[in-house]
Amino acid sequence: MTDRKTELAANLAKVEERITAACAAAGREREEVTLIVVTKTYPASDVRILSELGVRHVAENRDQDAAPKAAACADLPLKWHFVGQLQTNKVRSVVGYADVVQSVDRSRLVAALSKEAVRAGREVGCLIQVALDAGESERESGGARSSSEGRWRETGGRGGVAPAGIEELADLVADAPGLRLDGLMTVAPLTGEYAGREQAAFERLMDLSTDLRRSHPAATMVSAGMSADLEQAVAAGATHVRVGTAVLGVRPRLG
Ligand SMILES: *Cc1c(COP(=O)(O)O)cnc(C)c1O
Repeated sequence: MTDRKTELAANLAKVEERITAACAAAGREREEVTLIVVTKTYPASDVRILSELGVRHVAENRDQDAAPKAAACADLPLKWHFVGQLQTNKVRSVVGYADVVQSVDRSRLVAALSKEAVRAGREVGCLIQVALDAGESERESGGARSSSEGRWRETGGRGGVAPAGIEELADLVADAPGLRLDGLMTVAPLTGEYAGREQAAFERLMDLSTDLRRSHPAATMVSAGMSADLEQAVAAGATHVRVGTAVLGVRPRLG
């Protein structure tokens, strides 16, 4: 093995151990949790190595980086997740390679994704990204960008819709041609009542998922947890964890 492959194999083994231990502690089966490796800022050669090591799900957050990487890895049996804030002018490109868009947070994005998915003859899975850093009833807070986009708010660059906006957006996705409503996603908030309380935040996401599944029973994905807090996410019931640095190393720049 190359040095890089040895390094990634060792990191993957450690992450695998952490997920297995977290599942055991929570009384869950290991198969209930899917590892998504976040490959942002790392080259296509790393994605190829990860695929050789058995990784099947990768995630990216910037279309400029992701599009060429996905093209270079088109021969690999990978599912690509898009996890970044998505501008509507990038949607056509993203729909070209993404199997799942985890960052759906406003109606205009749903419309654009649907239009491009139909055009490409693809079905795109969608997760509603939930922002847990605002009060429950607070629909817009500082940084709100547009009233026509309803409850969508800037959340320190993290995006997401407030809990009160999930249902409306979920119904839109479910009714949109070319789109499939897969579930919910969140990033542990840095501010607000859940700051520093990752597990409570992820448990809140699980409750919101339970509510959502009453009207959309197939929307079973719950994407939560990163390198620093995957144990809390597994304990709360997450079905997917998104792990970057613990597998690939500390990123050279913010991404
Ligand atoms: C970068 C990123 C991750 C992975 O974060 P790490 O701390 O590197 O594990 C997960 N989710 C999203 C949305 C990200 O942007």
